[in-house]
Amino acid sequence: MCGIVAYLGKKVAQPILIEGLKRLEYRGYDSAGVALLGSGAIRIKKTSGRISALEKVLDEPDAAETFGIGHTRWATHGEPSTVNAHPHLDYTGKFAVVHNGIIENYGTLKTWLRNEGAAFASETDTEVIANLIGYFYTKNDSEEQKKSDGQNKFEWAVQQALRELHGTFGLAIVCSDFPDTIIGAKRGSPLILGVGDNEYILASDAAAIVEHTAQAIYLADSEMVTISPEGFHTKTIDNITISKELKQIEFSLEQIELGDFPHHMLKEIFEQPKALSTCMGGRIDRQNNRIKLGGIDSYLRELTRTKRLILTACGTAFHAGLVGEFLFEQLARIPAETEYASEFRYRNPIIEDGTVVISISQSGETIDTLAAVEEAKERGATVLGIVNVAGSSIARATDAGIYLHAGPEIGVASTKAFTTQVAVLTMLAIELGRRRHIRSDQANKYIDELSQIPDKISTILKQSGYIKQIASANIDQDNWLFLGRGFNYPVALEGALKLKEISYIHAEGLPAAEMKHDPIALIVDGMPVVFIATAGPQYEKIMGNIAEVRARGGKTIVVATEGDENIKSALGRTDHLITIPDAPELLQPMLTVVPLQLLAYHAAVLRGHDVDKPRNLAKSVTVE
Ligand code: GLU
Repeated sequence: MCGIVAYLGKKVAQPILIEGLKRLEYRGYDSAGVALLGSGAIRIKKTSGRISALEKVLDEPDAAETFGIGHTRWATHGEPSTVNAHPHLDYTGKFAVVHNGIIENYGTLKTWLRNEGAAFASETDTEVIANLIGYFYTKNDSEEQKKSDGQNKFEWAVQQALRELHGTFGLAIVCSDFPDTIIGAKRGSPLILGVGDNEYILASDAAAIVEHTAQAIYLADSEMVTISPEGFHTKTIDNITISKELKQIEFSLEQIELGDFPHHMLKEIFEQPKALSTCMGGRIDRQNNRIKLGGIDSYLRELTRTKRLILTACGTAFHAGLVGEFLFEQLARIPAETEYASEFRYRNPIIEDGTVVISISQSGETIDTLAAVEEAKERGATVLGIVNVAGSSIARATDAGIYLHAGPEIGVASTKAFTTQVAVLTMLAIELGRRRHIRSDQANKYIDELSQIPDKISTILKQSGYIKQIASANIDQDNWLFLGRGFNYPVALEGALKLKEISYIHAEGLPAAEMKHDPIALIVDGMPVVFIATAGPQYEKIMGNIAEVRARGGKTIVVATEGDENIKSALGRTDHLITIPDAPELLQPMLTVVPLQLLAYHAAVLRGHDVDKPRNLAKSVTVE
């Protein structure tokens, strides 16, 4: 959440910062601002609203300003107003700060700083950071401070301030006394330094960097970087010099551009066949009917012997985890449970000998999931990661992991990350199943079926226009239900989540049989109820649930298996039928979720919403 970008080089900074902020806008978009430096004074422009609003209040770029920092905010403390927008100046007017994260002890620090004479203009926690730096820089006259001079004095003040902070931060800081220096620092929020030809771009994620350079260093927690025209150096917040390896950013500019699609979400829905092929391509050895998951090779024996699996994740990745839970239990007979990462870390989880924790996150930066990883490690578990973004915090914090290779996901509503997360979990479950429980010929059959999933998704995507008609026919309805059983129960949860997050229509997902215990009371004439009623062991049962809804006036939208004649006779004139190609029940989630993604997408567009920037949400949830 929130995008930070800073530029230092020979080019005019303002347009570069704006371009970078646009690339990061999916991380937060309620207010934005820049601080620019040229001859010494810090020039700040900020406003509530999106980057397009910021562009309207900007002055013409000043050619002398070749350094600067920028921010697109996702408010945590203080409403999204101009005064709360970043950058924040300190009370001395010398420092400007942009921040991603939450400072948990900001209240105490604010009171203390006020007593010391610091004035505050905003309601944000961030301003405390700016004022602390200003305080240490100007007021403190300890021996230690007296020893520091020049750039060191700037670094020293930043280090003193950061040591006082509880919580998380990704920061870019400038000081008018050192107009050619930018300091970046992080704890818990991501920060990457792109290293170009005589220029540097510091950003929350690589999307703002790839246009300029493919070389980057990834800061770890409690590390800071000082950048100036002479180069950069890295230290810990405790002032220990460290050297960092230059890494290659693994995606291209082309992959994050919209191309011919109106929205990133639609583009990413349509990318699923390719994303899944890439995800599974090098891992499925059809000749020998084996699955090779290179990243966790050395953990396979431990996984084969494991007594219990805990899958931990948030949001859409949690739903992928639920599918994984069912897969591990069914194919490998390993007891598995899925836990919300935010609950896992605080509820004193039981980690016994032989427990393996699998954490799932598209961005690899989801703060709750990252914290759950740390908690599980501390309690002695082996922790594996399933993430999309290479080099991300979770990828680094886990013992080993499997990358999704889905390509960058920009749409806030996660789509191709879900299907590739499920694909990775399926591959792992089949491989563990083959080692523990199922016969080789059964495993081979699943491998064969799994390889056909990308093509089957392509056929479902052809129904996009038809699904739009279904969305249109029900667009006035404000309450929807999504129901499924077995492996399609997590898909029902995901269908409801998708609809809620981008169309703002209230929806609930449930195991179909649970309907009778609660939401059946909500069913009124014309209320859309989406059923996943594909071929599988619970088909007859779900047909009963469809009849129960129809008897109460609900309108059913049914996802069924191609060639199911029985379902046609069970539906009425106003009901809708979407079909998917046949597949074994345990592989169906990768197919059944696709029409639900399209349904949510079209509903949101029909309601006139900005699909890629849904209200109050943002990508990469880096605050708790
Ligand atoms: N906590 C800060 C604020 O509310 C930063 C939030 C963010 O990460 O955008 O302004």
